[in-house]
Amino acid sequence: MKIFKCNSCDYVSVSSKYTCPQCRTGKLEAQEVSPIGTVFSFTDIHIAPAEFADIAPYTIALIQLDEANVKVTARMDDPVQIGDKADLDKMENGAYLYTKL
Ligand SMILES: [Zn+2]
Repeated sequence: MKIFKCNSCDYVSVSSKYTCPQCRTGKLEAQEVSPIGTVFSFTDIHIAPAEFADIAPYTIALIQLDEANVKVTARMDDPVQIGDKADLDKMENGAYLYTKL
């Protein structure tokens, strides 16, 4: 998956920005890293917004990537625990869908 790393400080993001929001001088450069990571925290969503109502309940997890100092917000269909390994399944409407490894 693509991440964006600042060329003058340690800021990393999964979304592209024009300049670095941390040091405000660096430029973010795209980098390809493995999407595999570890579940850092998660929330079970039982009452979903209208567009996701048909797939509720589901889990929103914060995934700490193995290869970069960045966390990805991802939707997961399986129950997860903190510390579980997870991998990117697919992108859907701009959202990351992860599955437990
Ligand atoms: Zn920076």
